[in-house]
Amino acid sequence: MAAENKVYLNGLVHGIKGIRRDSDGGAIAEIWIYLCVKRRTQKIVENDARKKIVRYDDILVRVKKEDLIRYIQEHKVAAGDTMAVVGTLVSERVEKKFECRKCHTANFFSGILSYVYPMSICMTQIRPKTKEIIRLTNAEIAQGGEAVRKILDEKKHTDGTIIFTEIEGSDENGTDAMVLVQPEYDDADAVQYLSEVEEMSNVIHVMGNLCEEPVFTKDSRTGSNCKYQLGVNRKLFIKEDDPGNYTDYPIIHSLGKQAEKDMQFLKTGSLVNIEGALQERDGFKIKKRCRACGEENRLNSSAIEIVPYSVEYAKDCLNSDGEEEEEEQKKDARLEVGWTETEAVKEKPEAGTESDEDPASEGGYPEEDGSEDSGQGSEETADDGTVYADDDSFDF
Ligand SMILES: [Zn+2]
Repeated sequence: MAAENKVYLNGLVHGIKGIRRDSDGGAIAEIWIYLCVKRRTQKIVENDARKKIVRYDDILVRVKKEDLIRYIQEHKVAAGDTMAVVGTLVSERVEKKFECRKCHTANFFSGILSYVYPMSICMTQIRPKTKEIIRLTNAEIAQGGEAVRKILDEKKHTDGTIIFTEIEGSDENGTDAMVLVQPEYDDADAVQYLSEVEEMSNVIHVMGNLCEEPVFTKDSRTGSNCKYQLGVNRKLFIKEDDPGNYTDYPIIHSLGKQAEKDMQFLKTGSLVNIEGALQERDGFKIKKRCRACGEENRLNSSAIEIVPYSVEYAKDCLNSDGEEEEEEQKKDARLEVGWTETEAVKEKPEAGTESDEDPASEGGYPEEDGSEDSGQGSEETADDGTVYADDDSFDF
């Protein structure tokens, strides 16, 4: 089956957004990490002028596999660490919720939630963490919680942030606490690291069929843009996911000459083979009408889309005259690259097709929907203030 969806990221942990525990409040079921990655510097030809695009993106990585959760806990992964991830881009349909700003009715709509699901993780450190043993008096211990945290912070010798605390032992006079200090890193460290790994910092290889006609826009500000949604059958069974999810629906956003070619050669059902980078689109607005009072609500949204470095037109594409390719040609092409027949995913997801979305929000694309909305009806998100491991010093 012609299906591929593999993501390679290498970047800086920008933050741990949160964790989700099992419903009984016990074991950690999921950890959300923001990984800052750098896209390979891209040269785009636009109106015969060359543009160089340098871009950093914060990509949401949702760690669900048990062994990877354990790995993150054991290595005390924190902001400032660096991490390599191999995984898959999940773009799943979810029910989203918002409360009407006028009448406060709860409204639901179908949207797409996109994130990277890691199969393998490897952590490294720009600057190693330092272990210190700090002596606390009984009087200090008695102050409890926040006060103890402050005292530890004042008593430590290493510059940085305490990310982990553990009691080492105590006697009648006091207690020894072990703290792990994460050194501060600055932007220069981050920029240097990301430049070194640029070629492997943000890469996705995806193969699938267009489930809609491509949408092309061109204006003086953003140049040529082409957007289309792919249906990509899952090769990977994600144990923790809804077993009904067999297909992902990533959005492709090509630029410049590539956008013009995509518009010329692609149609619904075309099979494409794409190498590109993930791009976070944050903070755009979508419009939703309240089902009770009809009020138009503007909601913050974000999404991960794919910006291609290259697009191979593999099957069922148009020729340069905008006509269907000859059957014979298609067969030849298939033999060359060894395709087996596969049923194209042509079904278009319901998600994000509401006509009342804001076409002016970005590049005139009318059918984009957001992914995770912070604070907008993500019932099972991890921002519950729960702490990490067994200590109480791990802040999210
Ligand atoms: Zn309302």
